[in-house]
Amino acid sequence: MSQGLKNIAKQYEAGSVEGRIYKMWEESGYFNPDNLKLPESAKSFCIVLPPPNITDKLHLGHAAMVAIEDVMIRYARMSGYRALWIPGTDHAAIATQNVVEKRLQKEEGKTRHDLGKEKFLEHVWKFLYETQSMIQKQIRNMGGSLDWSREAFTLDKPRAKAVSEMFCRMYGEGVIYRGHRIVNWCPRCESTLADDEIEYKEKEEKLYWIKYGPFVLATSRPETKLGDTAVAVHPDDPRYKEWIGKTVKISGVLGEFEVKVVADEVVDPKFGSGIIKVTPAHSFVDFEIGLRHQLPVKAVINEKGRMMENCGKYAGMTVAECREAIVADMEAMGIMDRVEDYTHNLSVCYRCSTAIEPLVSKQWFISVDKKLDRLGGKSLKEKALEAAKSDEIRFVPERFTKRYSNWMENLHDWCISRQIWFGHPIPVWYCQDCKEMTCARDEKLSECPSCHGSKLTQDPDSLDTWFSSGTWTFSTLGWPDNQDSKGNKTGDLAKFHPTSVLETGYEIITLWVSRMVMMSFFALGEIPFNTVYLHGLILDAQGKKMSKSKGNGIDPLDMIPKYGTDALRLSILLGNTPGTDMKFSEEKIDAAKRFVNKLWNISRYILTSIDLEKAKKTDIKSLVLTTADRWIIARSNEMIALSRECLDIEGRNYKISMLGEALREYTWSDLADWYVEIAKVEGQKDAILYHLLEILLRLWHPFIPFVSEEIWSNLAQKDPLIVSEWPKLLDIGEVENSRSQIEKIKDTVTAIRNIRAENKVDAGAFIKVKIASPSFGSLINSYREVIGKLARVEELEMVEALGEKMAGQFPFILDGVEGYVSVAVEDSGKSKEKLEKELSHYQILLENVRRKIDNVEFTSKAPEAVVAKEKEKAKEYRDIIEKIKTRL
Ligand SMILES: [Zn+2]
Ligand SMILES: [Zn+2]
Repeated sequence: MSQGLKNIAKQYEAGSVEGRIYKMWEESGYFNPDNLKLPESAKSFCIVLPPPNITDKLHLGHAAMVAIEDVMIRYARMSGYRALWIPGTDHAAIATQNVVEKRLQKEEGKTRHDLGKEKFLEHVWKFLYETQSMIQKQIRNMGGSLDWSREAFTLDKPRAKAVSEMFCRMYGEGVIYRGHRIVNWCPRCESTLADDEIEYKEKEEKLYWIKYGPFVLATSRPETKLGDTAVAVHPDDPRYKEWIGKTVKISGVLGEFEVKVVADEVVDPKFGSGIIKVTPAHSFVDFEIGLRHQLPVKAVINEKGRMMENCGKYAGMTVAECREAIVADMEAMGIMDRVEDYTHNLSVCYRCSTAIEPLVSKQWFISVDKKLDRLGGKSLKEKALEAAKSDEIRFVPERFTKRYSNWMENLHDWCISRQIWFGHPIPVWYCQDCKEMTCARDEKLSECPSCHGSKLTQDPDSLDTWFSSGTWTFSTLGWPDNQDSKGNKTGDLAKFHPTSVLETGYEIITLWVSRMVMMSFFALGEIPFNTVYLHGLILDAQGKKMSKSKGNGIDPLDMIPKYGTDALRLSILLGNTPGTDMKFSEEKIDAAKRFVNKLWNISRYILTSIDLEKAKKTDIKSLVLTTADRWIIARSNEMIALSRECLDIEGRNYKISMLGEALREYTWSDLADWYVEIAKVEGQKDAILYHLLEILLRLWHPFIPFVSEEIWSNLAQKDPLIVSEWPKLLDIGEVENSRSQIEKIKDTVTAIRNIRAENKVDAGAFIKVKIASPSFGSLINSYREVIGKLARVEELEMVEALGEKMAGQFPFILDGVEGYVSVAVEDSGKSKEKLEKELSHYQILLENVRRKIDNVEFTSKAPEAVVAKEKEKAKEYRDIIEKIKTRL
């Protein structure tokens, strides 16, 4: 026997193994594909980690993300791909600024304005370094095999270069423009928000019916009347036909004013009275109507959410204060017709829940509809749609193609400027002398290219955080440096772009996935990734969203020391179907830990009972294989084939959970419960057991990398498991016959075991079995020792026909096998003793219950339900006692 194998610990201690193994991997350099021994022709497989926001430590959803991507990467690496997984973090501009602002308010009672931009940003960077290093540590703890030498941050120097290059190129081609447009404005963040940064909250409000010149109309926002520049009706509404094009006088709270009546298709004749007031400065719909009818835009609400100077006595009020005042004044003037209750969806800021104010403002936009010659005359939106519809980009699960396409089809120009301090600056300078605007890649522009003046100021806004994360697949691969003057990709970009898989949460399709596709088409004229694998949310055991405030969350940081990383990974990988939310509980992790221990124990058994060196040298094909050997090798081959199918890179098929469940079943049942037990009887299995173990560890490695690598280290292999080769099938010829035969043996053993269990036969007791099987007689005969051991049969009698059933015999019938199991013979003394013990136990219980029921004190005072329950118990105990008596 080889040296050292006796030293394998009895128990697997994740805590003492994981740190050491991760360090070994990291120091080996194998996370970096440049260090893998691969032929030049090796294909690339690349994933960019969706960069976690540096706003907080990682949660269970991130743990799932790391586990799923690590399975894909480890499989690709072992399958001979140039596997690259790029780590990184996201500065999350507006979200981070909000977190730091809240902290500042809580700890020092100050706002960002009290500190000023420079001091405030110092706070942000300090916070950022803390969380960033915590996140890096967590990803390492999760076992993620990422190439840390290529780590990126959305706000580091290389990404800043990519962002300003991207902006300047887009500006140069007219894809980025500056314009007065209506935007979603958060008065608290004092910044614009993209359409998908808005959430909707159902709110009980009022619908005000106001007398409006000759009309009566309904509005939920009477305060915006101060900014009305028209009323609109549907062109086909007969009630208002004669009014179209006319100017009407309206009496208002600040005196009389005039508006035009316009006809527009967008007006719903069924809402209110079919006529609406038009406030182009403060409503998206009205802004569009204003554009179509060249209406004046009169702003009355400012960027702090207060009424502007032009609002007379209402100036300076908040929107809510103004509404209250105006309603009172309208009532006093007699122009308030009536007020109704009204439930509607209020738009609120996704970061701070403040009600959104639509405002007209001068902002930067990306035109999604501008046709580009170099994209075949198509727009970014068209290219992004085409890629999904043609399956060039595959969504897993497929149903999300539709969600993506619907979103894309309705996409408007994307507002990319944000009025916040933390983020990428806009690379545009304004000249105070000649008023020219210059877009420049330089960090600081010192001379105006038009008039050579030096009084230049940079645009004070910063870029939407999704602008930088939109470049993530190529900015992490060295763009723009890795693109030559002809537009060809070089270096990492040529090797790894388009990337293979984007694995992310389905809730981020619109915010992020869609942007990445458009940005990649613009920069490189190609898709950013071949496959989008979407994972669901992890919910608590009741199916509710986990949250800190509800206290139902499971923190991966607490679980790893308790159960080990492998157990945590396995528990979130199994039962996890793409695109579907998953119920989760700590029990799942506990069950996974039990499996990890089981794998350890099987491996330990094999390694301590075989002659390793001899086993390694033996060619399985040179052995005479028994039926059981052929069966287990066939099962092992099946697992290999299934793994290739479930992790298939070229077919873009990822059924991780399905593979994991099948492997677990194979390991626990086929291998541990059956084959290892059969091997103990048949003997001489060193080479086969070694072969099975070696393959098993490779197959499990992507799921539970630590324990598999630790066991592997006892196999005296040249290379660590992480760079071992994915297993290949072992051809042993025809196996179908062996399969059906072993299945028959398993069924027979199971049938006998069932009868034992049903009759409460003592686990240690031996029984007698009589079997008649014209078709499988010789098979059963040759496996009589195995059956004897696994079903604890002391005497197995093979007969032509079973004959009449005697007392104490219990029958079983399988296809081709029939038998009688004799229960409670030989051992009757022991069983009888056990039954007698049980009898007296239940008699005592019954006596206790009876005493209660007979006690009037109890029955008169206790609630009816309690009394009924006691009576039920009494009946149950009486039944059990009867049953025991018949067996004695
Ligand atoms: Zn906000
Ligand atoms: Zn100038």
